[in-house]
Amino acid sequence: MGTQPNVGIIGLGAMGLGMAKTLVAKGFAVTGFDLSGERVGVAQAAGVTPAPAPASLFVGCDVIIASLPTGKDVASVVEGPAGFVMRAKPGAVFVDTSTSEPVISRRLSALCGERDIGFLDAPVSGGPAGAHAGTLTVMIGGEKRHLDKARTVIAAIGQKTIHVGPSGAGNVAKLVNNLLVAAHLLTVSEAVRLAQAAGVPAEDVLTVVNAASGRSAVSEVNFPRWILTERFDSGFTMGLMRKDVRLAKKLAAEVAALGPVSALVADIWEKSAERLADGEDFNRITTRG
Ligand code: NAD
Repeated sequence: MGTQPNVGIIGLGAMGLGMAKTLVAKGFAVTGFDLSGERVGVAQAAGVTPAPAPASLFVGCDVIIASLPTGKDVASVVEGPAGFVMRAKPGAVFVDTSTSEPVISRRLSALCGERDIGFLDAPVSGGPAGAHAGTLTVMIGGEKRHLDKARTVIAAIGQKTIHVGPSGAGNVAKLVNNLLVAAHLLTVSEAVRLAQAAGVPAEDVLTVVNAASGRSAVSEVNFPRWILTERFDSGFTMGLMRKDVRLAKKLAAEVAALGPVSALVADIWEKSAERLADGEDFNRITTRG
């Protein structure tokens, strides 16, 4: 593989399109595929070469980035006769930036290992804005030799690359991170309501919290940017966050580590489906039912 690998991107949604644009801007040759023709059109206008199917993208690409809704979607393009495992170039690496399940990542990594091609779970944090700016945090599970092959591509989309451990470790870290964000959205909104009820406006109490020890990304970023402004346009949906919280709870149950606070957080997010549709911004969880 040369210093500038050919990159394929599968999934050109809020995150995938941003990553594709960043890679094009940094001089990579990028080929893309999405089930939605409309998304392919937008990517093409941004300099991405469209592929008619994932299999035709695998033939020419050294590094494949996936940004798909679920682990099942990822498995559908990796497994099977037209999947990455059967069609990949020798030495190619599949970098799965989707928030997926550790158990699926490990299965796909083992399958790829049988043909000596790479599979990394590489979920990301930073949202569509981070994808467009190339400033994501990327948390990697998998073998270092595969990470080294894909490093120039990952460094182009991410400001911070953290090799967490073996296959699945990236998704464990991502699910734990998003469980915390899900919890913080509930705790910070309760705290802000408490302050308001006691006579201190939201902006004022957040100024204090953000200069003191109660702060979090939710209090520093989500509240001022998307919640207090009522913009609710973060680019991350209720549906995807409910998926992440569900997967975190499932993981906790599998390893017998489901604590009472996590269980309550998962319950509140699950019930939110009764009033907040999948397509709504995830920050809406802070609004009253
Ligand atoms: P999205 O729904 O905007 O994009 C997903 C894209 O995948 C869509 O364009 C869809 O048409 C396409 N797709 C679905 N199945 C496909 C398949 N089999 N083959 C090809 N294309 C397919 O979602 P998103 O917000 O970009 O999120 C993508 C992943 O990144 C999710 O796993 C999400 O949890 C994770 N994530 C999202 C954010 C965020 O802020 N949006 C942040 C971090 C991680």
